[in-house]
Amino acid sequence: MIPFLSLKDVTALHGDEINAAVTRVVSSGWYLQGEENKRFEENYANFIGTKHCIGCANGLDALIWIFRAYIELGVMQPGDEVVVPANTYIATILTITENGLKPVLVEPKLNTLEIDDDLIEAAITPRTKAICIVHLYGRNAYTTRIGDLCKKYNLKLIEDNAQAHGCYAPVKGHTENTESTENVRLMLTGSIGDAAGHSFYPGKNLGALGDGGAVTTNDDALAEAVRTLANYGSSKKYVFKYTGRNSRLDEIQAAVLDVKLKYLVEDNAHRKQVANFYYDYISNPLITLPDRLPDEQNAYHLFPILVGKGKRDAMHDYLEKNGVGTVIHYPIAPHKQECYKEWNGMSLPITEYIANHELSLPIGPSVSLDEVAQVVELINRFK
Ligand SMILES: *Cc1c(COP(=O)(O)O)cnc(C)c1O
Repeated sequence: MIPFLSLKDVTALHGDEINAAVTRVVSSGWYLQGEENKRFEENYANFIGTKHCIGCANGLDALIWIFRAYIELGVMQPGDEVVVPANTYIATILTITENGLKPVLVEPKLNTLEIDDDLIEAAITPRTKAICIVHLYGRNAYTTRIGDLCKKYNLKLIEDNAQAHGCYAPVKGHTENTESTENVRLMLTGSIGDAAGHSFYPGKNLGALGDGGAVTTNDDALAEAVRTLANYGSSKKYVFKYTGRNSRLDEIQAAVLDVKLKYLVEDNAHRKQVANFYYDYISNPLITLPDRLPDEQNAYHLFPILVGKGKRDAMHDYLEKNGVGTVIHYPIAPHKQECYKEWNGMSLPITEYIANHELSLPIGPSVSLDEVAQVVELINRFK
């Protein structure tokens, strides 16, 4: 059996340290808003390369707080538009509609699976306040063009970094001469835009043993508003500035995440080995692989393939019968979901194509190269 992802095996990779961290918190008697959060937030901000990191309950809330904070700060108001990829996990879209903002769905490119930056400018209106990019599957979605559009139209750039901890993007324009390629530098996703939401859902590249999330930003006012919102709207005990919620990261999860953060680069390096094996050896003509990015621009959270000739589900069943777990990300696009009935009639053919052809192969720090070789052999034999 080669499972799609064995969380038990992933945890076991650093099991002793994780157990020690959990035990330390359990016996400390301090379970919320303590030293563990402070330490992890500091270490994660340092890792991502931002001034602030605010731990919160999950990745959905992280993004909800970013938009809500912009509303509280008067930067956005309900009814404003946010450009967002149509091909994403629905959580990205929910954080926009939850705040009374209007998602404007933009198709992806089929060869990258990420938002098509050729289509963004036409989606911008006088009510557009932000572009929210999603580094889906662990792939960098940022392009210089997106950065330029944000400057041109004075838009906030928000990153959904739920799937891309440890992914880099080449970013231009940190000196006067933006045309010179020497001014391109690699920055971690989550540090490129005005703010980023991160998820520590157990299956993510940096995963907790339960729910967790964080906001990273260099914006002092935004950081303060997010921290306040996620703590009932209060930054001073019994004084409430906003109608917030309880959305905190607990001390046990922070301690676990701080252990796992130390191994993130190493774990991602293993994912890259797995991915490179797939890229080098998958040769079945039914399968199309997304463009191979430079290694540093892909954290390989998932390994998506597109299966042609209507054989995606047959491929899934065939692999399952042969003991290999695969998952579809995602079988129903957000605009086709019942919760967004008003969009059900929209035609987004590339997004729909991906929903009908995508299949994610096993990848992760606990998948062995031997197992990957077996998966490839099975895939190449599939007719
Ligand atoms: C996982 C995920 C989220 C939400 O994170 P949770 O921690 O599960 O709330 C948001 N966006 C994307 C792209 C995700 O994959």
